[in-house]
Amino acid sequence: MRPRTLVLHLQPFQRKLKPRRNDGGLTSMPADGAKGRLGSQVLKILIVGAGVAGLAAARALEMRGMRADIVERRNAPPTAGKSVFLLGNATRALGELGLLEQVLRMSFPIKAQTILSSRGRVLNHTETETEWAGCGPCVAISRQSLVKMLQASLERTSIDFGVTVVHTTSRLGRRAVHFLDGRVEEYDIVIGADGVRSTIRAANFPQTAPRLIGFGAWRFVTDNYYGIDRWTAMLGAGRTLLAMPLPHSQLYLYADCAQDEFGDGSIATLKHLFANFAHPFDDIIADLDEDVDAHLAFLEDLPNQDYVGDRLVLIGDAAHASSPNMAQGAALAIEDGIVLARCLRNDQAIERALAKFSEMRRRRVEWVQKQGRMRDRLRKAPDFVRNFLFLNFGTRLYRRAYRSLLEPL
Ligand SMILES: Cc1cc2nc3c(=O)[nH]c(=O)nc-3n(C[C@H](O)[C@H](O)[C@H](O)COP(=O)(O)OP(=O)(O)OC[C@H]3O[C@@H](n4cnc5c(N)ncnc54)[C@H](O)[C@@H]3O)c2cc1C
Repeated sequence: MRPRTLVLHLQPFQRKLKPRRNDGGLTSMPADGAKGRLGSQVLKILIVGAGVAGLAAARALEMRGMRADIVERRNAPPTAGKSVFLLGNATRALGELGLLEQVLRMSFPIKAQTILSSRGRVLNHTETETEWAGCGPCVAISRQSLVKMLQASLERTSIDFGVTVVHTTSRLGRRAVHFLDGRVEEYDIVIGADGVRSTIRAANFPQTAPRLIGFGAWRFVTDNYYGIDRWTAMLGAGRTLLAMPLPHSQLYLYADCAQDEFGDGSIATLKHLFANFAHPFDDIIADLDEDVDAHLAFLEDLPNQDYVGDRLVLIGDAAHASSPNMAQGAALAIEDGIVLARCLRNDQAIERALAKFSEMRRRRVEWVQKQGRMRDRLRKAPDFVRNFLFLNFGTRLYRRAYRSLLEPL
């Protein structure tokens, strides 16, 4: 049976923009009336980018009695998007932002993860629910739902769409931000949450650039005619297919292969590369139409280093874009916002707070990137080696990869 449509048709949402305050001032007292570190100080904070990282940071700042302005170069919030797998540490972080119930309503619970060989042999089965018990539930959610929910949670943050930052410079103890429209404004802190191709990083850390990690990837959403009820991956020689159920009987599909096989990324190429994959992926691949709305990418990561400058800090993919195989990009982005807000609230000196933030995040990010690289190496290994390892040590490898992320922030 052919899927009826492969394109998500979701209603665009538009947040009513709050008027910009000319003084750019922040609420200096927490909503709960407790004295915050900003009790006597009014800070002007700019967040560049309204992705998961920027929105989560704004929410975390609000919850600690601070307020930021967000600028986003897109003209509107996303009206379509692919999906993300949120492991327990991501939902725990969303719980800390007071959003767990909403996430659970909008997502599909992932209680188990199964890895198959391309011939359909079960290599590993992990009870995800058990592994993450005590931390948070694991769910699949559309990126649009996640972004929409984070955005709707903001009460005092202003978001200006269609505004692009081109550069920032340190100026007499403040941060001057240069916008594409020629404006220059000063802030006490600039938070660069502008993604893997970050302008803020390029301008302030020019020695660092994203590196290709050797895979090309397709992502799309289709109808779940195939009875996929859990996170299911199928591994072939350097090629991976992954399917995850979404709410409303939809299915997220991810496929990757070596970069030199990716070619033009056409659906014909994808069908050709995965033609021999066994059930249940054989039907999914056979049913794909040429006009499927696929998101294509060459996977990239960033070297781990401190992305903190004078009154400047990078978060999310701008700071630590990583191989997606750990499913930690959104999780780390949300956690970044929470830890940053805590540091800013707890320390009187901005530079010290930013240094503390960097120190608190370094080990976790390093760990995720290291595990991601190991998994990518394993995926490139000969079939018999990889299958042997998954068959005999799969659950142990899973626990090892994630155990440190169970620790509280
Ligand atoms: C193939 C693939 C699969 C993935 N799967 C998962 C998964 O299952 N689970 C998971 O947790 N993570 C996953 N990730 C990672 C996750 O998507 C990212 O880590 C996360 O979305 C990063 O969010 P962000 O806000 O840091 O960046 P982005 O989402 O890139 O947001 C940055 C925002 O900044 C804006 N911007 C950029 N430059 C400027 C500028 N100069 N001025 C103003 N605005 C600007 C952009 O328009 C954008 O809206 C995956 C990634 C890939 C590539």
